[in-house]
Amino acid sequence: MVDEPQYVWNVIAGESRKASGDGWLERESPVHGNCIALLPDSTATDVDEAVAVARRRWRDWAELGPVSRGALLRSVAERLTALEDEIVQAVRTETGKPVADARGELGAAIEFSYFMASEGRRLYGRTIPSGVEGKRVATERVPIGVAGLIVAANTPMPNYTWKVMPALVCGNTVVLKPSEHTPLSADLFMRALREAGVPDGVVNLVHGRGDVTGRAIVVHPDVDLVSFTGGTATGREVAAGAGGRLAKVCLELGGRNPLVVCDDADLARAAEVAAASAFSNAGQRCASGSRVIVDQAVHDEFLERLVDLARALVVGGAEDADIGPVVSRASLQRIEQLVEKAVSNGAVLRLGGRRMDDEDRAAGCFMAPTVLELPAGGEEPIDDEIFGPVATVLPVDGFDAALDAAGKTPFGLTAAIHTTDMDRARAFVDRVQAGMVSINGPTYGSEPHMPFGGFRASGNGYREGGTEVLDFYSDWKAVATWGRPVR
Ligand code: NDP
Repeated sequence: MVDEPQYVWNVIAGESRKASGDGWLERESPVHGNCIALLPDSTATDVDEAVAVARRRWRDWAELGPVSRGALLRSVAERLTALEDEIVQAVRTETGKPVADARGELGAAIEFSYFMASEGRRLYGRTIPSGVEGKRVATERVPIGVAGLIVAANTPMPNYTWKVMPALVCGNTVVLKPSEHTPLSADLFMRALREAGVPDGVVNLVHGRGDVTGRAIVVHPDVDLVSFTGGTATGREVAAGAGGRLAKVCLELGGRNPLVVCDDADLARAAEVAAASAFSNAGQRCASGSRVIVDQAVHDEFLERLVDLARALVVGGAEDADIGPVVSRASLQRIEQLVEKAVSNGAVLRLGGRRMDDEDRAAGCFMAPTVLELPAGGEEPIDDEIFGPVATVLPVDGFDAALDAAGKTPFGLTAAIHTTDMDRARAFVDRVQAGMVSINGPTYGSEPHMPFGGFRASGNGYREGGTEVLDFYSDWKAVATWGRPVR
């Protein structure tokens, strides 16, 4: 069955608006290729209007106070819960992912919203002793202003809440630009905010193309902070655009995350976890474990297990598939090209390698789960993030070589090690360059109350999630009170 295309709108000052230039973008289904949504092709003029509204509403929102803001966020979490079936359906329509994934992601988004809502009752500062008699000093977290939030398509609901909720609880107003691939979930997210009673204009939604709408947000002189989730190349542009005008900027970027399997690992578990890390969500995770590094002593057995698990995955648009499509034709083509390049650089294809073009899947963006065996001691044949269901498996000679190989990437988002030797595990934790390290687990799996973010080309030092996220969305004011000593 093919869905009728749905119109979605910008939401500025609580009003549904089309783009000022009257242009529309089409979103094609990644499952069957038909147009499922039409979204405004917004211009810098639309961004100007959204920013102006967010600026006007900022003072009232900031002065509402964190406890009241937190209460509104709790209502948003309740509305997201009430809209569960509609949201799951919308996410499935726009991404094609299995129902369990769409539902699980929404659950994570709701939990995170509750977590941030409760921060409204904390937002703690500190008291600081003074060397001056009668003087008292305390720090207060204060709002910053207008937040420009730009998100990726891979897990849309968590991506919105991870940025919008902390921005709001800290007292900022928002201009949100979703991925042009996920307009339907963005529409429902705005509905949840409205139904929860978040005042009009506190969160404004502007659809459009990244290099037009996204860029207009990044360079806008009245946007005080920019938070961006997306690819590293785009992240560099965002950093230059926002940093050049001294706006605060948070970058949550890509990864090529290593999963190391030692000779003493539980191989059955390691293979299962490696398969989940590389292939779940069709590999479209910044934290995906696309780089498996295996001790030579267990390499052949591990590789066989991984290939068997990958071969057994059901790929398709059905509700109960194991993995769905990648987000777009451009993405599919890029992944195929990366695989071809790896093969021409010496990798051996053990499974998959190209799009699935049988009758049921040819119109969609389905990439076959792919396993590439790399030559021992060879150079890394893929120098970019893959962002698709592809795992490379590299044999190495011992733990030191594994550690060395794990570091041979410009990225530093997550890393995992599978071993029963706790000294090795500890050495791995100490030496690997990654913002999240997992022992005997997958390369993903952060929870709402845990900080998430990467080193090196995976980010710029800020964290999303946890209370650490508050450090991006608020500033510190040190307040001194001077008293005369009473004798
Ligand atoms: P992109 O970098 O292509 O796009 C991300 C967002 O930025 C989209 O909304 C996009 O709009 C917009 N955009 C594109 N170009 C510009 C620009 N010049 N200026 C401002 N905004 C722009 O990434 P993908 O959508 O392909 O997402 C995948 C990437 O996201 C992967 O690299 C992944 O690792 C990363 N990611 C990182 C996470 C983390 O927490 N570290 C979490 C999730 C994903 P449009 O869609 O219209 O092009």
